[in-house]
Amino acid sequence: MDRGKDGNRNANGGLAEATASRLRFDSDEEAEEVEMEVEEGPDAEGEEEQAAEVIGSDKTSADYYFDSYSHFGIHEEMLKDIVRTKTYQNVITQSSFLIKDKIVLDVGAGTGILSLFCAKAGAKHVYAIECSQMADMANEIVKTNGYSNVITVIKGKVEEIELPVPKVDVIISEWMGYFLLFENMLNTVLYARDKWLTDDGVVLPDRASLHLTAIEDAEYKEDKIEFWNNVYGFDMSCIKKQAMMEPLVDTVDANQIVTNCRLLKTMDISKMTPGDASFTVPFKLTAQRNDYIHALVAYFDVSFTKCHKLMGFSTGPRSKATHWKQTVLYLEDVITICEGETLTCSMTVAPNKKNPRDIDIKLQYSINGHRCQVSRTQFYKMR
Ligand code: SAH
Repeated sequence: MDRGKDGNRNANGGLAEATASRLRFDSDEEAEEVEMEVEEGPDAEGEEEQAAEVIGSDKTSADYYFDSYSHFGIHEEMLKDIVRTKTYQNVITQSSFLIKDKIVLDVGAGTGILSLFCAKAGAKHVYAIECSQMADMANEIVKTNGYSNVITVIKGKVEEIELPVPKVDVIISEWMGYFLLFENMLNTVLYARDKWLTDDGVVLPDRASLHLTAIEDAEYKEDKIEFWNNVYGFDMSCIKKQAMMEPLVDTVDANQIVTNCRLLKTMDISKMTPGDASFTVPFKLTAQRNDYIHALVAYFDVSFTKCHKLMGFSTGPRSKATHWKQTVLYLEDVITICEGETLTCSMTVAPNKKNPRDIDIKLQYSINGHRCQVSRTQFYKMR
């Protein structure tokens, strides 16, 4: 997967790539069933059709949610995201007072990397919960590295497993998805917190914020959106409407930024409820130069406020690129904005009702400027 390799925009960015990469699948059993059908292969007549039915498209991303995490490729990508993994390592090793002699719960352990950091930092015991097949690897890795007496890997969903202890002192997790909330693993962390965390327990990280800014993006909008107007002489603009609705996961150059950056929402993971991940927030973006605006860009920060010094990282266009890149939301209008003018906006974010791992976004924007007067509402779906 060629994700954010050199910090430049690549032609196949977007959620299509994203879904192939960092998407959590939902049902192990069903995924296994599909695999078996593929392995055996249909040999009698009619079986082919049957198999096609099983393999076929009645599955949604929800059905396969956990399965992509069974493959090492996605873990390789996450582990090689230095900004991400190094921040967790630094937090754990430099704030060992949070970890030493504590009982730690690693929510969604993957390869077990965060559990290993915690064990090395002196945790009394670490429970590493992982629902994908990667749990078997994590178990092996724990053994190979001599931590079997400190780390217990539990294979299963956080929502379904039984923990051998009634309470834990620390919950650590790397749950963030594209646009922060895509995949909705946050709910799993909140579930674990409410069930097992002691009253004075710590959640790592404990703060996450979503930010927005506006960019000039003529060239890429032309390539990804306007492209559909004339494809080898044919009008395919019906696809353009769909393309407009899908936020694009891609890296944005800092020099494309036209306005200031605005905080949309901050979430305190140690206190929030699942409902707090749905919100409507009005905000204003003020132009810092005369330019065109083609899109809004969303990105997130996470921080660990319980460390001696504030630690964390940003996935913004001015920071070192991460595998989350940024999320680009194209506007119907090309806005001509003059320095000092304001784009007045409101954004509503909520999980999709049919598949809560997907996100519905509503954006209202208006400007009454020298060169441009426009007011519009647009809808987007992260899926
Ligand atoms: N902690 C690892 C992996 C992070 S990715 C690291 O930092 O490298 C998130 C992991 O959580 C995935 O491996 C996914 O399979 C797992 N996961 C997601 N939802 C889960 C749930 N409800 N129960 C258990 N594991 C879950």
